[in-house]
Amino acid sequence: MICNSNNPDAKIKGDVIAVFAESLAVDEIARIVLEDVKLGVIDPEKWYPMDVYLRMINKTYELIKEDGVRKIAETVGHRAPLPPDVDIVQLFSILNEKYHEHHCDDNSTIDVDITSPNLITIESDTPYPCEFDKTVYLEMAKRFQKSAAIYEIGNECRKTGGKKCIYKITW
Ligand SMILES: [Zn+2]
Repeated sequence: MICNSNNPDAKIKGDVIAVFAESLAVDEIARIVLEDVKLGVIDPEKWYPMDVYLRMINKTYELIKEDGVRKIAETVGHRAPLPPDVDIVQLFSILNEKYHEHHCDDNSTIDVDITSPNLITIESDTPYPCEFDKTVYLEMAKRFQKSAAIYEIGNECRKTGGKKCIYKITW
């Protein structure tokens, strides 16, 4: 699976890359991925080109395939720092704001609609691969609601060259 940022100027904060690198768990995989993009020690406070992070994700897909990357995305969603004292609805309500705190990316929006008390609709046009994004959202939701499930709707998908994906999270 190849993902290309449609915004080569986008940047990402090192803390997100650090969580991903830690989630690679197997030292050998982490070493290969970090070497591939020529990153040594990651500074959590520094901004890196978004493209570097997308290349890390692509390299990981190459090395450990989709099932392996799903496990990593699960760990990323599980470890992603969340604001204290929020519930699932509050978290997803500020998701776009949180995305922009960690990504310097004027071209992307995570549009969240609290559709009903147990249903959230997310429209995302971030440069992330669909499957990666979807898994991270689901794992974040599960931290609040163990029964949470996610599914994709609509005809457009970033996996098949679309600009955005629309997901529904229920619990
Ligand atoms: Zn999609």
